[in-house]
Amino acid sequence: MNLNVLVLPGDGIGNEVTREAVRVLRHVAAKWNHQLKLTEGLLGGVAIHKTGTPLPPETERLAGDADATLMGAVGLPEFDDAPPEKRPEKGLLGIRKALGVYANLRPVKAHASLLDSSPLKNHLVEGADMIIVRELTGGIYYGTPRGISGEGAQERAVNTMTYTRPEIERVTRMAFNLARARRKKVTSVDKSNVLENSQLWRKVVIEVAREFPDVELDHLLVDNCAMQLILNPRRFDVVLTENMFGDILSDEGAVLAGSIGMLPSASIGARKPSGAWVGLFEPVHGSAPDIAGQNKANPLGAIGSVEAMLAYSFGLQEEASAVDAAIEVVMRSGRVTADLRPPGTPATTEEVGEAVCAAIG
Ligand code: NAD
Repeated sequence: MNLNVLVLPGDGIGNEVTREAVRVLRHVAAKWNHQLKLTEGLLGGVAIHKTGTPLPPETERLAGDADATLMGAVGLPEFDDAPPEKRPEKGLLGIRKALGVYANLRPVKAHASLLDSSPLKNHLVEGADMIIVRELTGGIYYGTPRGISGEGAQERAVNTMTYTRPEIERVTRMAFNLARARRKKVTSVDKSNVLENSQLWRKVVIEVAREFPDVELDHLLVDNCAMQLILNPRRFDVVLTENMFGDILSDEGAVLAGSIGMLPSASIGARKPSGAWVGLFEPVHGSAPDIAGQNKANPLGAIGSVEAMLAYSFGLQEEASAVDAAIEVVMRSGRVTADLRPPGTPATTEEVGEAVCAAIG
């Protein structure tokens, strides 16, 4: 298969973890005989330094041409007081929008060897393995009217939660297709006891579900879901929800995984003529200026993002499973970075990347 991938390392540890993610991607491509075409582009603080803008037009063009984009992280302390247009994070929002990635997928897995890193009791977390599908380009974060008006006692603020039927349909189909490749269960999360917006959400989800008779569907109100994620995380396979609920629930889900350095994410858009799904893959963490340049950042979130790319953009399940299994082997070996508090001397970023490749074989 042709794997046409744009790499945007970004700033800080983005460079270090992306290097290891690319190492794993090259290894997989060589082992399974895929034609890997890698292009590198500028995003974030490094792009501001070199071009004056966090998302240069050239990067947008390269992302449009690629089947999938692998990102590191953006952000440099020197831009903390810069105006919004000159901040590295502006590039991140810009590229998500430019690619039209409407579904954010966040796999949350309680790795056996990390159970002690979770603040939750082992018996609750053990075996948890879910994916949260968050609608990413609609809902209250984008709805109009919005704004603050009036003064004094008349001052008021308004935001609008709005969804159209097609917006709900496409993300629902994405969730059900994902469930088909997993344990075939979708939990749709809404607030339909209070919000009309959620009533439409639930109605459309039920209608789309009829196209997937082999997948089980249930519904949870968002307040109950927040509780069940902690009380009974194993009950979830695919969690489907709108933008703001997903924003909140996916951070809660992150607690199950142990360390922020472990967490991958995938944002998916339309299908390309090549058959690949447009995708933006990045670890959840930021550029971590406190440890940048020290070869001690955990690259497993970035490597997990490669796994997500193989599965979701390219449909390469066998290769994705091999990366997943290799990550598990490396974690069990204890040769992991300092954030996972290994018993002996922590491994370097590079050593973890090499170990994952060795475990893939
Ligand atoms: P951060 O995720 O960069 O770091 C938070 C803490 O977690 C730090 O102590 C860091 O050392 C640690 N950490 C993060 N990733 C790690 C890894 N892979 N291995 C080991 N430890 C890791 O968040 P922050 O400090 O709030 O933000 C730093 C910069 O990153 C800011 O400029 C922020 O805007 C940016 N940021 C970018 C993204 C992104 O690009 N998607 C996401 C979050 C923050």
